[in-house]
Amino acid sequence: MIPRLKPDLKISDLVSAFSFWKKNSVEKFEEAFAKKAGHMYAVAFPYGRTAMMILLQALGLKNKEIICPAYTCVVVPHAIVFSGNTPVFVDIEDSGFNMDLIAAEKLITKNTGALIATSIFGIPVNLEQLREIKRKHPNLIIIQDCAHSFMADWSGEKVHKEGIAAVFAMNISKHIHSIFGGMITTDNKDLAQKIREESEKTLNPAGLMKSFKRLLYLIAIYPTFFSPIYTLVNFLERHKLLGSLTDQFDQGIVMPTDYKDTMTEIEARVGLSQLERVDEIIENRRKIGAYYQYALKGFKKLKPQSMIEGATYSHFVAITEFRREIMDFCLKRGIQIGQLIEYSVPDLKYYQDLPGTKIDCPKARHICSRTINLPVSCSKKDAEKTIFALNEFFRDRGVLNES
Ligand SMILES: *Cc1c(COP(=O)(O)O)cnc(C)c1O
Repeated sequence: MIPRLKPDLKISDLVSAFSFWKKNSVEKFEEAFAKKAGHMYAVAFPYGRTAMMILLQALGLKNKEIICPAYTCVVVPHAIVFSGNTPVFVDIEDSGFNMDLIAAEKLITKNTGALIATSIFGIPVNLEQLREIKRKHPNLIIIQDCAHSFMADWSGEKVHKEGIAAVFAMNISKHIHSIFGGMITTDNKDLAQKIREESEKTLNPAGLMKSFKRLLYLIAIYPTFFSPIYTLVNFLERHKLLGSLTDQFDQGIVMPTDYKDTMTEIEARVGLSQLERVDEIIENRRKIGAYYQYALKGFKKLKPQSMIEGATYSHFVAITEFRREIMDFCLKRGIQIGQLIEYSVPDLKYYQDLPGTKIDCPKARHICSRTINLPVSCSKKDAEKTIFALNEFFRDRGVLNES
């Protein structure tokens, strides 16, 4: 089975996890992360969503409107709500998956606290447009959500450098992982200080039990992503016999029970080990992404994400009317196709119930039922198999692709 998402797992990560004699790993991870990002400061968190919540609090934002994409991971608006603020959703661009920045600008009011720029699927946010907004609204706080876009650049410039701070997420579906985890990076000394204070006030030191659970989780996922076992896991997942690997977006505005427990030393050690390979990981994804771009050119009923220099492909996404059919067809051939992100946040029932967030985002609604994502953390051979299966799917349907 070729999985739709696959963490980069090496035995060295497991060895790092078990290196119990190593001390101050969280601090070391923060230092190494800041260095890699080219930022002065980095602060680690148990989840990306916790990082986002603490950042908004550290910025002193309360009862403010936070502008964010409608088409993003649901945990981002959750973090906004938990920080005591209200999300204001922005629809996607005409051709693309990122937030429409021209529409975003129109939503800026005197109540706006910040704008969360997101490079979804690793597609870099348009920094020129973002700078234009900043020029017109010099006091606007811009936050980069880089959960999907580790090291992505727009015209040669790193997107995470544009704004007051950047938030990263490191669960096993991201470029690199620290089992679970989040990070804020910034060059602003006062803000870094406030983030530390806010996090000491809000978070509890992780206990032994959490460390033990994280270690078990890591041991469990290691064999999981090797082919035959993954087939079994996929079966269990599809039959809803396994909760933890699937994204839960239908449970209301809630956080995981341990979202306020600090990152464990074990996680930091795994993160450090992964960080050493991040360039390699990104390079491979770019190579597979470029191959898909080339191979899907002649497809008539499947539109791949635009080819943008600097994208880091947390996912390779395409739009098609045949999502369900393609997923079923490929699964029978041992290829798992994903359907990320399959919702537009303002359409989720519990966000419709939230006062002040009733914003219609028809473009996000339209694509969220039509996106598929192809395996991208895989070998060239697996990518070729995927293209072969997609070709076969359309040929069976009498849709002839141009070669
Ligand atoms: C994964 C993700 C986050 C944060 O994720 P956590 O699960 O809280 O670590 C934030 N933004 C986006 C766009 C994401 O995909």
